[in-house]
Amino acid sequence: MKLPSHLTVRDSRLHLGGVDCVSLAEEYGTPLYVTDLDRVTGNFRRFHAALAAHYPDVQVLFAAKANGNLAVIRALAAEGAGADVFSPGELELAIRAGMKPERLLFNGSSKSRADLALAVEKGVRVSVDSLDELHQLDAVAGEAGKTAEIAFRVNPALEVPTHPKIATGLATSKFGIPAQEIIGAYREALACEHIEPVGIHCHIGSQILEVEPFARSAEVMVRVAKEVTDLGVHLEFLDIGGGLGIPYHHDTDPAPTPADYAAAVMPVFLKGIRECGIDPALWVEPGRWLVGDSSVLLTRVNSVKKAHKTFVNVDAGFNLLIRPAMYDSYHEVLVADRADLPADGTYTVAGPICETGDILAHDRALPTPKAGDVIAVLDAGAYGYAMSSQYNSRPRCAEVAVSNGKHALMRRAETLDDVTAAMETPAWKE
Ligand SMILES: *Cc1c(COP(=O)(O)O)cnc(C)c1O
Repeated sequence: MKLPSHLTVRDSRLHLGGVDCVSLAEEYGTPLYVTDLDRVTGNFRRFHAALAAHYPDVQVLFAAKANGNLAVIRALAAEGAGADVFSPGELELAIRAGMKPERLLFNGSSKSRADLALAVEKGVRVSVDSLDELHQLDAVAGEAGKTAEIAFRVNPALEVPTHPKIATGLATSKFGIPAQEIIGAYREALACEHIEPVGIHCHIGSQILEVEPFARSAEVMVRVAKEVTDLGVHLEFLDIGGGLGIPYHHDTDPAPTPADYAAAVMPVFLKGIRECGIDPALWVEPGRWLVGDSSVLLTRVNSVKKAHKTFVNVDAGFNLLIRPAMYDSYHEVLVADRADLPADGTYTVAGPICETGDILAHDRALPTPKAGDVIAVLDAGAYGYAMSSQYNSRPRCAEVAVSNGKHALMRRAETLDDVTAAMETPAWKE
C-alpha cells in the first residue's frame, strides 16, 4: 500500500511523524488517536500556496468541525488560518486558539438568537441561510448597537460525485438560499438597518475527488457576484467553501492536489471578478484536506474469531470513528507491529459496540492479526474524534500529538467519571 511521506515503516513497525505507533499504544494505552501536527501545517501551507500562486488575496478558513482539538486549531492559527465555525463552541474554540474574529465565518442553517448575538458581540461575520435569519440578525445587531457584516449562503443546486449524506449543494439540500432567489435576499439585506452584506458563500459538499464540480460552483458564484455587485453591494470576499477529498483508498482513489483544484477554480474566479470590476478576497474552507491524513486511530486486538468471516475484534468502534458505519467510508488498516509483512488472509475489523454495523473495515488482506496486536486505522484526522460519542458508556480515548519524533498528550482519555459528570438522579418530592 502506498503511504504518504509522514507515515513510514521501520523495523516492520508503523511510524507517524517519526514516532513508533506501537510504542505510543503501549505508553498511552488504546484506543488512541495520534495526530502529526507537522502534517497539518504542511497541508495548510500547500493548500494556501496553491491558490496564492494565482491570486494574492487568499484566506484559508479551516472547517473546524473536521477536527475540534485546540492543539490542531492552534497549529493552524499560527499559520494564519481562519475558520469556518458552525456553532458557538467552534467559534469560541477558534478565538481561544488565537484566530482573529475577522478571519472567521459563522455558518449554519439553524442558528439561535443567542448564536447570532454571540457572532455580533465577537465581531464575527455571519453566513446567513434564510431571510428569517436575516431579519433576526438585523434585530439582534440593532439591540447591540452594531452592524452585522454578512454573506448569504448560496445553494448552487449542483449534483456532486460524493456520498449523498455529504452533498450539501443539491437543489434539495437543507443548506443555503436557492441561486435564483439570492438577488432578492441581497436587496432585502441592503434595506436592513443593521446589516451590511459584504460577501457571498457556498459549500457544495465533502469528499469530492474531482475538481470539475468546484469550477462549476465557482461559475455560479461569480455569476451571483456580478448581479450582487450591480445591485450596489461592495463584495469584500467570495467564499467558495471546502470539500476537496482525500484518497482514502491509497492505491486506487484519484488524489487531486490543491494545485489541481486551483487550476480548475482560479481561472473562473479571476475572469469572473475582472468582469465584475472588483477585487474581493478569495476565501476557501477546507476541512478534511487539511487534517484527514494527519491522524491514525490505534486500536488493540482483543480477540480473533472465525465465523462466516474471520473477525478481528478491536477496542475501538463507531463510538470513536463513525465514518464507516455512517457513510460507508473506507479507511486503510494496517497491523502496526508487522506493517510491511505480506497479507496471508482476509479479515474484517470489528469494534466493541453492541451494533451489527460496528465494523471499521470489511474483508481486508492483512498479515494474520492476533490478540494484543495494534491495528492502525489510517486517515482518521477528519470527522474522527470530532464525531465520537460515549455510546455504550465508553469514555472517549486520548489524543496524542506527534511532531518530528516528539510526542505529547493533546487530550487525555475520558474516565467513567467524565461520562457521569453531568448526570443527576432526580430526587422526587411528594
Ligand atoms: C463541512 C464544511 C466544510 C468542510 O468540508 P470538507 O469536506 O471537510 O473540506 C466547509 N464549509 C462548510 C460550510 C462546511 O459545512
